[in-house]
Amino acid sequence: MIIAKESVVTMHYTLKNEAGEVLDTSAGREPLVYLHGVGGLIPGLEKELEGKQANDKLNAVIPPEEAYGSRRDDLLRVVSKEGFQGEEALVEGMRVQLETDRGPAVAVVSGIEGENVTLDLNHPLADVTLHFEVEVLNVREAEAEEIAHGHVHGEGGHQH
Ligand code: ZN
Repeated sequence: MIIAKESVVTMHYTLKNEAGEVLDTSAGREPLVYLHGVGGLIPGLEKELEGKQANDKLNAVIPPEEAYGSRRDDLLRVVSKEGFQGEEALVEGMRVQLETDRGPAVAVVSGIEGENVTLDLNHPLADVTLHFEVEVLNVREAEAEEIAHGHVHGEGGHQH
């Protein structure tokens, strides 16, 4: 069967940036299993996978606007160093976990100046054109319960 809305897709993938560096890969690990058409993957990759079937291999180049978007200056926050007391020493480039009005988020410390710390809440892959190599291993229809939950159950999915 072909990949359409509410297909459960099992696939191996490798993600590279424009320089050819591997950013993420399922090689050597369990393949990725996802429910198609509910926003589980970035939009550009779901679009490329639509209509594919088991054993298909594809290379997809996904621009930022169909992936993690553009960097936004309003996602830079300047906070006081005091908020980090008791934690390990702050260093530029380190990742910190923080609470936002939309729940916990990971930010990168992008600057430290006196008592001011600049946190960058942009996605690390914002502004990055993504190069995917994908091998579709299996396609099946989702169970009604999986559709209701919006995720895959069983092997490679949620266990509950
Ligand atoms: Zn569930």
